[in-house]
Amino acid sequence: MSSAVRFDELALSAPILAAIAEVGYESPSPIQAESIPSLLEGRDLLGQAQTGTGKTAAFALPLLSCLDMSVSEPQILVLTPTRELAIQVAEAFQTYARHLKGFHVLPVYGGQPMHIQLQRLRRGVHVVVGTPGRVMDHLRRKTLKLVRLKTLVLDEADEMLKMGFLDDVEWILDHTPEERQIALFSATMPAQIRRVAQRHLRNPVEVRIESKTSTVETTTQRFWRVTGTHKLDALTRILEVEPFDAMLIFVRTKNATVALVEKLEARGYSSAALNGDIPQKQREQTVDRLKRKSIDIVVATDVAARGLNVERISHVLNYDIPIDTESYVHRIGRTGRAGRKGEAILFVAPRERHMLRAIERATRQPIEEMQLPTREDLATRRIDQFKDKITATIESQELGFFEEVVEQYRQEHNKDLREIAAAMTYLLQLERPLIVKEERAPREDREFRRDDRPGGRRRDPRRGKGGPPQGRMVCYRIEVGLDHGAQPKNIVGALANEVGIDGQYIGQIKIFDTFSLVDLPEGMPNHAFQHLQKVRVCGQPMNISLARGGHSH
Ligand code: AMP
Repeated sequence: MSSAVRFDELALSAPILAAIAEVGYESPSPIQAESIPSLLEGRDLLGQAQTGTGKTAAFALPLLSCLDMSVSEPQILVLTPTRELAIQVAEAFQTYARHLKGFHVLPVYGGQPMHIQLQRLRRGVHVVVGTPGRVMDHLRRKTLKLVRLKTLVLDEADEMLKMGFLDDVEWILDHTPEERQIALFSATMPAQIRRVAQRHLRNPVEVRIESKTSTVETTTQRFWRVTGTHKLDALTRILEVEPFDAMLIFVRTKNATVALVEKLEARGYSSAALNGDIPQKQREQTVDRLKRKSIDIVVATDVAARGLNVERISHVLNYDIPIDTESYVHRIGRTGRAGRKGEAILFVAPRERHMLRAIERATRQPIEEMQLPTREDLATRRIDQFKDKITATIESQELGFFEEVVEQYRQEHNKDLREIAAAMTYLLQLERPLIVKEERAPREDREFRRDDRPGGRRRDPRRGKGGPPQGRMVCYRIEVGLDHGAQPKNIVGALANEVGIDGQYIGQIKIFDTFSLVDLPEGMPNHAFQHLQKVRVCGQPMNISLARGGHSH
């Protein structure tokens, strides 16, 4: 469980506390609660904790709190095994230091041009985060000077050992000032790491985040590997197909509760946020609404969901993986209550797989991998729901008038009832299609009239009042969709700005998960077409192509 200490009880500096509040962390994770006070006191620290426990903040927050902003020479050096981690740690520093005026952190790693790093080093930095090899290079060239170094952090020391960096690490340790503080973090403590600690750390505080084991019997646990599909898309597919009574979704920060609720609402799922910033009274109202079935989905942080006891919660979905195993146990304890069966689903990104194992160990239960509902599953579900709706309507509504309308139509047009019903079904499902479309491969042949003007502006008749543009339209496919956050306005904006197609000439836009279809006037000139390959919408190159069966009108 997240610890009972509050961030503002930890003697961190005001600008750092302000940043934490903005990022939205509710309370320190166990490793933070244990490490921060000692690091603030200047003590050496030996921490055994894995990625995902909040260890970056465990050292970044106290070290930043003690930074002397008037000295623009490296005071903190963090060594990491990989460039990815170096970048990530540097970004974390940047985030937590957002209220320290003039703060500079520099990631240094092999593969990045040396001159960029040199330039930034010369301009002055407070924190350097780097891989051992490149840090050594800079030290040898004397482009990195550590005379003012206060603290050295060894992050993921066991990984550095595995990658053969230990000698380099020791060499660097020997080139730091006598009086520096050292924090060594490692997921495991093999003998070599212990030896480094014994040789270089002075009377270190030892922090170890142990996971207690507990059993969770009434709850079935599954995990989904976060790949390709976005978490939000995965969530909405699960919401659509998984039979649930009420679902409690866990995210890591207060801001994320609100953001996810907004996104769910936009996709038609009414839901509410529960976080520590929301006044008690309003929180109680939300819990009450959940109990009374006026909402079925609540998005919460760990702290806000503490003690939440609503029997109808059939599902707990861990949208963000918890920060420690106890939080996990606590989270999934919100379901399977009062002897009911519960379901727990966990989203796990590749870099979080350690936490998955830790959770399995702690709960002494394997967690089964689940597949996302496929498009066929979605379609089956939608068709079933549609049929149920027909049945319910026949049973509950007075349909005499509508029967007459149908009968009139049948006689006037000489159509059979089956065909009429099919047409109506088609109309009814337009907003939420019963056939969930598969992605289509782009068409090979791209025939364009090279010399025509952009968008066929010159020849194309105006769009009728409120109606779609007249004249021949061609359906194009662009490789940007819901997964990338695309909305019609982004697509219209890009087309208008980049190739000057006026909004009124842009026809129907259909946005799917990973791509969209746009109707444009026939005759796009080649240069415009070429240009649109590269134009980005929501950070994604459009890669426009003629859709299969491109002629839509
Ligand atoms: P780390 O173990 O440093 O890789 O951190 C894992 C994740 O936890 C990062 O995404 C952090 O932003 C997040 N995090 C760190 N501290 C907290 C906290 N006290 N509350 C919630 N999330 C946190």
